[in-house]
Amino acid sequence: MKTLSIFGATGSVGESAFDLLMRAGGPDAYRTIALTGGRNVARLAEMARALRAEVAVIADESLLGGLRDALAGSGTRAAAGEVAIDEAARMPSDWSLSAIVGTAGLMPGLRVVERGGTLALANKESLVAAGPLLMGKARASGSAILPVDSEHSAVFQCLGCGKLDGVERVTITASGGAFRDWPLERLASATVAEASCHPNWSMGQRITIDSASMFNKALEVIEAHEFFGLSSDRIRVLVHPESIVHAMVTYCDGATLAHMGPPDMRHAIGHALHWPDRAALPVAALDLAALGQLTFRAPDEVRWPALRLAREVIAQGGAAGAVLNAAKEQALDDFMAGRIGFADMAPAVEHALDIAAGRPHFGDSPGDLDAVLAWDRAARRDAGDWAARRG
Ligand code: NDP
Repeated sequence: MKTLSIFGATGSVGESAFDLLMRAGGPDAYRTIALTGGRNVARLAEMARALRAEVAVIADESLLGGLRDALAGSGTRAAAGEVAIDEAARMPSDWSLSAIVGTAGLMPGLRVVERGGTLALANKESLVAAGPLLMGKARASGSAILPVDSEHSAVFQCLGCGKLDGVERVTITASGGAFRDWPLERLASATVAEASCHPNWSMGQRITIDSASMFNKALEVIEAHEFFGLSSDRIRVLVHPESIVHAMVTYCDGATLAHMGPPDMRHAIGHALHWPDRAALPVAALDLAALGQLTFRAPDEVRWPALRLAREVIAQGGAAGAVLNAAKEQALDDFMAGRIGFADMAPAVEHALDIAAGRPHFGDSPGDLDAVLAWDRAARRDAGDWAARRG
């Protein structure tokens, strides 16, 4: 029986994975080693009972007592804190889903690839902040990293699961998020509630706001660069409001293969779960006649400066990805807390990148987790200082 672990089980991606597993027979079909959550004890315990997990870990240590109570008599061991997540990630399992949001998702992914496990990677921040480190460890251990971000899963599938021979470029699509058609001058006054409404995808709040600012797409451009090893001029972004075509691969003979599907994360998660095979998934089939038409347009880098920043970060290399990732998280925190406006997020990130570029070793790719986290802390401070001055 396949063994698996889910890091970030209680989130939007984690819930989609749980749904797939339960529909496939739950504990009769898969042996669950570890499930982790951040603060949602009740849901984590419910999932752990349903999947008969060996261990359930809650990141917030103050919630351990509650988790123990909720798991009493279940046979699942309760644990809490970062060290316990680290231990859970070291436990052997065939397949692990990295679905914690933010930089906190990097450590468990690194542990999985260090022990040679298969890593289904939703946490795009891992590749943005530490792409060379993660990919290098995977090469050394023979670990397979499978993309779960829908656009990267789509590219992976159009490439015949990884072969770059004859590829001219890849194109990832973006819905354009909540403010795709807003007049530019209105963006400065956009509220958190307005930015939290995605036109097509149902996702966690942070990634939904990142879709409105296009920072999500900026992360994905860097993710594609790190994962597929493509230079930034071979990675295009196309605004596609219907979110049906997730990505396209254009070959040197002029052929373009597109991956299409309804906006449902269970496809990409299920593809990674069953890879290299294909299995039936509870995802609705496309009805193109009902859709009628699909539309595309070039992205406007004035509306979405994050896309320009992504290309600059790829050109800079070294620690730039870790800085952009952390500064973006800080700017998002500051926007969500009302300390800065929606349109201030990109300048806050740009400020942190400018400061970081003047620091020693900026051009060196961080060689371990501590080095990534050191750049991460400094970038949060710099972006936060910018926000404080702005406020
Ligand atoms: P959510 O915010 O819905 O869920 C995040 C998960 O991480 C939850 O389980 C949460 O726990 C947990 N968590 C939060 N903070 C910590 C922490 N400090 N330590 C440990 N666990 C923590 O996010 P999404 O599911 O939307 O996204 C997860 C990842 O997948 C992100 O990297 C995102 O970019 C990526 N992704 C998401 C997609 C989507 O459709 N949602 C699509 C493609 C990629 P709790 O809720 O219990 O507090």
